[in-house]
Amino acid sequence: MPADFAAGWLASGNGAGAAARPRGPKRYLQRTGVTAALTVALTRIMRELWADGWRLGRNSAVQITSIDLDAPDSSLQSILDEGDRRVGGLVATRVTRLEQALLAAVAGGLTAGQLTGVLDGLLGNEPAALVVTQTEVTWSMSLAALAYYQQARIAAVGWATAGDATVCAVCDGNEAAGLIPVGDEFPSGDDQPPAHPNCRCSLYPGDTGQSMMPADVI
Ligand SMILES: [Zn+2]
Repeated sequence: MPADFAAGWLASGNGAGAAARPRGPKRYLQRTGVTAALTVALTRIMRELWADGWRLGRNSAVQITSIDLDAPDSSLQSILDEGDRRVGGLVATRVTRLEQALLAAVAGGLTAGQLTGVLDGLLGNEPAALVVTQTEVTWSMSLAALAYYQQARIAAVGWATAGDATVCAVCDGNEAAGLIPVGDEFPSGDDQPPAHPNCRCSLYPGDTGQSMMPADVI
């Protein structure tokens, strides 16, 4: 984050009244181009991640079904198209955190240097980045697998959890539901993983009865 960004905010007159005007920090982030820059940066990173996830999901589907379709596959493009819409949610989460930090800096009387440190810490937050990575790879892998199963005329899919102690009750419930028609919803209301942020689940095709664990392909 540029050093003058924090100084500009603290000097912009958003100080005393900002907490009462919640759109203040949102406007500042837009006016300084931070929101647009975040969108561009996240779109670039996510598109690479989704393409990687798509390849992993498709390759796994080829292996697990033992069906190697020669047909062209448009599902990568649909992943990228739908993915661009997902970026909006990712940007919104980060913008909200930045807005809160800007308001807190005013309330707490932070210096520009201190605020810059807080903002850099927020944008470089590793655990949060890992949650996004896991969730988005799970999403693109599952979407690619589902598309491939449909192309291969596989009628039913099952939900496979990672099978360890940290699997949540929601995903356990989806796995327990067994095979369901392709495109139908599992008990969580999702037709494919992820069911929640950090979900590590995958889909397996009904015809083979094998599960496709993320650990097998990463
Ligand atoms: Zn899960």
